[in-house]
Amino acid sequence: MKRIAILGATGSIGTQALEVAAAHDDLEVVALAARSDADGLVAAARATGAAFLALEDASAAERLDVTVRSGPDALVRLIEDAQPDLVLNAVVGAAGLEASLATLERGIDLALANKESLVAGGDLVLAAARTSGAAILPVDSEHSALLQCLGDTPRDQLASLVITASGGPFRGRTRDELAGITVEQALAHPTWAMGAKITIDSATLMNKGLEVIEAHMLFGLPYDRIEVVVHPQSIVHGMARLRDGALIAHLGHPDMRVPISYALTYPRRETLDARPLAWDAPFSLDFEPVDLATFGCLRLAMEAGEAGGTAPAVLNAANEEAVAAFLAGRIGFPEIEALVADALGHVAVEPLASLDVVRAADAAARARVAEAIA
Ligand code: NDP
Ligand code: MG
Repeated sequence: MKRIAILGATGSIGTQALEVAAAHDDLEVVALAARSDADGLVAAARATGAAFLALEDASAAERLDVTVRSGPDALVRLIEDAQPDLVLNAVVGAAGLEASLATLERGIDLALANKESLVAGGDLVLAAARTSGAAILPVDSEHSALLQCLGDTPRDQLASLVITASGGPFRGRTRDELAGITVEQALAHPTWAMGAKITIDSATLMNKGLEVIEAHMLFGLPYDRIEVVVHPQSIVHGMARLRDGALIAHLGHPDMRVPISYALTYPRRETLDARPLAWDAPFSLDFEPVDLATFGCLRLAMEAGEAGGTAPAVLNAANEEAVAAFLAGRIGFPEIEALVADALGHVAVEPLASLDVVRAADAAARARVAEAIA
């Protein structure tokens, strides 16, 4: 039996992980956490029998008559108390960084959906894994695909990694055509149903930028060996380009339960009722170059990745604030990119020396965005 903790259990990834765990006999959910959705957490606890619970929001926790850890260090205490074999971090945003570090520092394997952990604090997360020997298993569909494409290929034979992007709801538009986009339009993703923040990131292509940084961290490749290609059907999730001319791809209908299952059951694999690709009707796979002139968030992320240090933490925090402001109707869609660029231009980049340095860069970026909006 593998004992697992699910952080962000009430979200899009979290609820699909609960489904995957219920389908696999050798996975036992022992701990659950969310931010403020007390009803959702209790329902998940009833369904799984998980005894260790946490809610970041103390006032939400107070309303419950079961023991719930709460407050800013609730996730870390949850991990300490539950001692799981594996933690799935499906919290959204840089708020997930401490939990990723706490997991790896205790030698517990980390199934990582929270890509913001690797973007904001990548070197710290990698160092924690290296020191304890715990594994980081990517849940992001592209990175799960890349891991599987790599298999046991000797690393000196890997030329590059290819990350696919659906292009989002505004693929094919010009920069001028991005003005006036509504929240509803930006939330209508063509191929994936996901939480609101990552759906907006997919519309700006910031999500692909965060994923390029995530791939750099997970696979240790320089940025010029990480390619992005637009693939509107979201059937090819990732590809490994080898030096002998082979391009190895991972295919499947878009279904996050597949990479979730891979991460939760690693190194075994379990059967899942995913819809198979079928050959009874013709279908095509299209690929097109990414439009960096229109979708500047992707370019900003690549530049922040190259700059290193706290630049990706600044990019990420500014983006979180800008996306929240867009969702609240306080700014227009093109201003997301403008605010991130402004924060990167104003917050000084420092070496990523400690968690405190990340926290300071994160706070400075959020303050800069708030100031710019006001
Ligand atoms: P959702 O917004 O659907 O869910 C977020 C979850 O995190 C909720 O359970 C929420 O609790 C919880 N949460 C938020 N903040 C905190 C906090 N400070 N402490 C504890 N729990 C918190 O997001 P998604 O599931 O879409 O995304 C989660 C992560 O997975 C993101 O990093 C995203 O980039 C990544 N990801 C998602 C994919 C998807 O298909 N959805 C695909 C690939 C990656 P509450 O409900 O109480 O607010
Ligand atoms: Mg992805």
